[in-house]
Amino acid sequence: MSITGKSAAVVNFSEAKGSVEIREISIPEIGEEDILLEVENVGVCGSDLHQWTSDHSWPVNYPVVLGHEFGGRIAVVGDRVTGWKVGDRVVSETAAVINPQNPMSKVGLYNLDPTRKGFGYGVNGAMTRFVRVPARCLHRVPDGLSFEEACLTEPCSVAYNAVAVNSHIKPGDRVIVIGPGTIGILCAAVAKICGGDVAILGLEKDRGRMEIAKSYGVTPIVNDASEWARKTDGLGADLIIDAAGISDTLKIAMDLVRPNGQITKVGWGPTPCNFSLDSLVQKNVRLQGSFSHNWPIWEKVIGLLSSGTLDVKPIIGGVWPITEWREAFEKMHSGEVVKSVLKPV
Ligand SMILES: [Zn+2]
Repeated sequence: MSITGKSAAVVNFSEAKGSVEIREISIPEIGEEDILLEVENVGVCGSDLHQWTSDHSWPVNYPVVLGHEFGGRIAVVGDRVTGWKVGDRVVSETAAVINPQNPMSKVGLYNLDPTRKGFGYGVNGAMTRFVRVPARCLHRVPDGLSFEEACLTEPCSVAYNAVAVNSHIKPGDRVIVIGPGTIGILCAAVAKICGGDVAILGLEKDRGRMEIAKSYGVTPIVNDASEWARKTDGLGADLIIDAAGISDTLKIAMDLVRPNGQITKVGWGPTPCNFSLDSLVQKNVRLQGSFSHNWPIWEKVIGLLSSGTLDVKPIIGGVWPITEWREAFEKMHSGEVVKSVLKPV
């Protein structure tokens, strides 16, 4: 069976700033190992905004349909796909194209396969009604979990990888998250689940988003976290999660971390830094990058979402039809909402 026709899509059509518009695109044909997904909801990611404003640092395969945080129902199943049927409720991982022979893929870290291509920049993403998805990317969504929440499995998995996999966190650890965007707030929420005493650092303009962070039991701090970092024994926080979208915040992280502590950098930006890394050495600090996520992380996160242990409802600022993508993008870009969610038309 196949489905033919056209549907509206949010398309990023060139490198130039602001090159996003609604276009009618053909419903994709699928391969033998793919399924065709009918999208229910798709989250807007900071990276979608970066491609819109053209300040991204990754290669984009223009024109491309945006959107990599999505869930929906299986509409068509490829001939060689087993274990899935039409109507199944699923979310999809983001690594749309990987090389299974790459040594990183072979150890299950296909998110670190340098040839990996993701939805929304490498191949067409989900800000449209139908998207082609390799069956290996799928995870089942339990009935009790709404698609509006389930589509945020992806950013939750980014946070889970940064905090629970790539950082060593113990109950009682004092943790500071830099940057109250979606990833920052979710990192703070995961650090709380891990038993941390958690603060989140932002700027004056972030106050609205910091209020939302408070609903996760996180202490909001505006501008300077030095006092909070040093308030127990004067030495600094055990773990700093740097989730700001620039590289310069590493300097703040190096200042706030205690000797023998850890910094995990999950936020990134292409501008080079202009400061010394000496305190990293002098304090014997471990600096860890964190990128993307893989299969076991998704399974854990879906479990946390469906049990209610991790609740994404506080960060969802609204749901817009994809034809109103601009308003959804602008509200997130200005920081008025933490996360915008779209619905295909
Ligand atoms: Zn994302």
